[in-house]
Amino acid sequence: MRVVKQIPEMQTLSKEFRNSGKTIGLVPTMGYLHEGHMSLMRNLRDQCQVRVVSIFVNPTQFGPNEDLAKYPRDFDRDKQLCREEKVDVIFYPSSQKMYPPHYHTYIQVENLSEVMCGRSRPGHFRGVATVVAKLFNIINPHIAIFGEKDYQQVVVIRQMVNDLNFEVQILTSPIVRETDGLAMSSRNKYLTAAERKFAPVLYQSLLEAEKMCQRGIQNPAEIVEKMTALLNKIPQSRIDYISLVRPETLTPVEKIQGQVLVALAVYLGSTRLIDNIIIKGLLK
Ligand code: AMP
Repeated sequence: MRVVKQIPEMQTLSKEFRNSGKTIGLVPTMGYLHEGHMSLMRNLRDQCQVRVVSIFVNPTQFGPNEDLAKYPRDFDRDKQLCREEKVDVIFYPSSQKMYPPHYHTYIQVENLSEVMCGRSRPGHFRGVATVVAKLFNIINPHIAIFGEKDYQQVVVIRQMVNDLNFEVQILTSPIVRETDGLAMSSRNKYLTAAERKFAPVLYQSLLEAEKMCQRGIQNPAEIVEKMTALLNKIPQSRIDYISLVRPETLTPVEKIQGQVLVALAVYLGSTRLIDNIIIKGLLK
């Protein structure tokens, strides 16, 4: 396994892979790897001949009052996990190299970036789209894989890939959960013991939404009300948003039918957690 820190070295290496006819697959991450990340790597295994995992805590996707400085990092452990998974290359650039002084270019995917997580994290998806575009240009993968945990991120990236004619196929991978239902996240490390105990309520509220939809309830407000009641039982919590939207366009659902993405963001103390579920098979 090769660890590449320099951008020109990564570009040369990717050209070599392509010239020898190898399919390159990319897993973009911010490191502090867990089973969610590992499942992306595993799901990519049979789709390509070379797997590149990027590890980069991207400063441009964090707001001024967010957790950039304290975001968990453990490169040695990440390296070990990638080695065990037989990853071919870790791309591990520095912020200075990704965003040198006088950096000025950003990608704004309009509308999709402004709803849901974008409302409380202005600039977040601008940072995400920018770094993913840079990674695509540097690594030039044939395929890139993203987790459905960050569902809005996938929708934003697909839009960017279409709009800017990137020749990369976007794959997605299901949410990996702890045994009690909590979606795995590097940020779960921030939770206190008490918060961790209540954290599965997020998924329970999504399952409740699914049950209500399947029972034939068609008014989204009724579902939001029930979920709000469940989530408000978590001490020291604050709901950022609960959204019922169409999965492809993120437009609000007026009547529960067809496919519905139920997504939420909730603060437990100062930790902001997100989760979602796609409800399928509803009558049109
Ligand atoms: P992050 O390091 O949090 O930026 O995540 C890197 C990639 O892993 C993103 O595509 C995430 O959606 C994905 N990911 C993170 N957590 C999970 C999870 N619990 N299940 C599936 N994918 C995940």
